[in-house]
Amino acid sequence: MADILDTSIKYLQGIGPKRAELLAKELNVQTFRDMLYYFPFRWIDKSKVYPISSILKEELLDSEEVNTSSYVQLRGIITKKELVGFSNGRPIRGKARLIFTLTDATGSIQLVFFSGLKWIAEKVKENEEYIAFGRLTLFNNQVNMVHPELYPSAQAAVYGSGSMVGIYSTTEKMKNGGFGIKAITKIESLLLEKTLPHIKETLPEYIIKSMGFCSLAQALKNIHFPVDQKALDAAQRRLKFEELFYLQLSLLKQKNVRTSKGGGIVLSKVGDNFNKCYCSLPYQLTNAQKRVIKEMREDMRSGKQMNRLLQGDVGSGKTLVAVLLSLIAIDNGYQACIMAPTEVLANQHLASIQKFLTATDVKVALLTGSTKTKERRQILKELEEGTLNIIVGTHALIEERVKFHKLGLAVIDEQHRFGVDQRSRLWLKNDAQPPHIMVMTATPIPRTLAMTLYGDLDVSILDELPPGRTPIITKHAWESQRKQVFDFMRQEIDKGRQVFVVYPLIKESEKMDYENLEAGYLRIVEEFKAPKYITAVVHGKQKTEDKNLDMQLFASGKAHILVATSVIEVGVDVPNASIMVIESAERFGLSQLHQLRGRVGRGSNKSYCILMSGYKLSRESRKRLELMCSTTDGFLLAEEDMKMRGPGDIEGTSQSGLAIDLHIASLSKDGIYLQQARDLAEKILNQDPQLSAPENRLLTEQLLFLRRQGKDPKDYSSIS
Ligand code: ADP
Ligand code: MG
Repeated sequence: MADILDTSIKYLQGIGPKRAELLAKELNVQTFRDMLYYFPFRWIDKSKVYPISSILKEELLDSEEVNTSSYVQLRGIITKKELVGFSNGRPIRGKARLIFTLTDATGSIQLVFFSGLKWIAEKVKENEEYIAFGRLTLFNNQVNMVHPELYPSAQAAVYGSGSMVGIYSTTEKMKNGGFGIKAITKIESLLLEKTLPHIKETLPEYIIKSMGFCSLAQALKNIHFPVDQKALDAAQRRLKFEELFYLQLSLLKQKNVRTSKGGGIVLSKVGDNFNKCYCSLPYQLTNAQKRVIKEMREDMRSGKQMNRLLQGDVGSGKTLVAVLLSLIAIDNGYQACIMAPTEVLANQHLASIQKFLTATDVKVALLTGSTKTKERRQILKELEEGTLNIIVGTHALIEERVKFHKLGLAVIDEQHRFGVDQRSRLWLKNDAQPPHIMVMTATPIPRTLAMTLYGDLDVSILDELPPGRTPIITKHAWESQRKQVFDFMRQEIDKGRQVFVVYPLIKESEKMDYENLEAGYLRIVEEFKAPKYITAVVHGKQKTEDKNLDMQLFASGKAHILVATSVIEVGVDVPNASIMVIESAERFGLSQLHQLRGRVGRGSNKSYCILMSGYKLSRESRKRLELMCSTTDGFLLAEEDMKMRGPGDIEGTSQSGLAIDLHIASLSKDGIYLQQARDLAEKILNQDPQLSAPENRLLTEQLLFLRRQGKDPKDYSSIS
């Protein structure tokens, strides 16, 4: 039987083909269902009427309850009506305004209109009682309300006064097409009336009961038109949970499919190469390194394919972990590959890996986009024959022509640069069994987020830095202190140290960002004159050779200063660098600032991070910079980052390849629901892995339905 929710929205009374087209274009709404699931993004408590004097108080304006971005409802008499900015009865452009004074027993406020003046002036009567509903603004240090909803208080009920009112987001084009918030509200109301009796439940009865949820129909009604906060909470709880639950169920089911294939290569031996490397290390492994190596060894010999995320703060020693695990693969007769996001990083990995391998017989090579044809041919041949044990490289490694004899472990560094697609292509490198996969990231991702972004990955955490690191001192400096900053740089350089100077590079403002970098570079060259001081510069617009040359100049210590954009050189290891200057630091997110800061403090020198900023700082930027100065704990910063920006903005998540398009739940705010959803999904799948029990039939149907809608996370288990 056809589901009424699948009906095209154009058949709803008052919509028609034209408006339907607008809805499709602007809101991606095609069907009754889409429209019904177009939820308000906030709800206003219109049950409250504020005394005018209370909102004029400064402290209130700053408080949570009433501020200049919140809506308030006022009731009073229109005591004055003024049309200003007219000349000979004609409005002067940009000046014409209509100002009402609304007065209640406690005070007065001005209501200002800039358009529709004549019409509104005629309609609104002096000395009558009105309700004004709108956002407060500050103009000339005076609180007023611009373009409020204004209606006679006799009509209060018609306008939803006295209950909660949902606010829908709409677009300029929608408004022009007669689709303001009011119109959407009306459509939703009509739609609910038509569809509510036919809405099918999407969660099994036993879940609804045990979780104490309301029905789907109730939830949908109350998300649009809640009678009170309690009803709204119940609706949100059910809908958020449901969304996260199906996401987790889908991810875990995929994971089950992958692990139950049993196709994991068994790497059980710890052999000569591992031991030789281990014994030749100039230092002890940290306890965290020992723990994660143990965790992964267990995976690699379990007979199931490992798929693990290794999270470790900058400098926590992930490379060594990767090397030791690669050696396990090699000691069992397999090969390993290590993939880095940039050529510079791949080069650097090769260098540090070679150092670790001097005591072993392991053969390692580098493959990148600029490997010469002849050399490439040789490498490909040895890889296929199996005489080459470890290959380090960029995404050149996932090209079709790269074939392995027996690939046992694939390590991917700095995951946020690679998508799930690329990860899955590595799985295909072996004909028989997929290699074990380890993804390393230095962006600490809060647990709740990792669980979802990498729902099919297990997580290991390196939460300990090797001993002997001196903590980095972080300071905020204003533009006016630039001279002191330069003096300080000079001091350090004269002591033999090196300095990074990093500029933001953001797609939307790319042109200006490059101009800033250019200007900054010229200023540095002017200030730090050659030949005494050498300055290298690295950015995305250079040719690869130039980039590598300048990078090499800095890495080898020949250049004292490296001016660079933020995007390209994460991960470079120059232990002698002791100062990181971050320009326009207010434009970076916390995680990114922390990443950049991690580029210094890698040697034994005392290191510094200087956050340069302009004068105009938003409250949030100021808080970010303060946090950076107060802590070096990457996980704490990541949590804060997520709270402040929301997970969608966390660096790299949008590129993670796992398109998680949450409709109502929020990964940062709904961590509790996420955990509950995960636990329940796990429990259900443990008892009924195929979801074939009668009480779970609805779950299977719903998963299929979501997949058809393109709303499930991509399923890569089927390709491995
Ligand atoms: P990241 O996790 O940022 O990739 P690296 O692997 O580059 O960190 O390691 C940072 C530095 O710490 C390297 O110079 C490495 O040799 C060193 N290192 C790694 N493990 C230890 C350890 N257990 N004790 C001391 N130094 C270590
Ligand atoms: Mg690294």
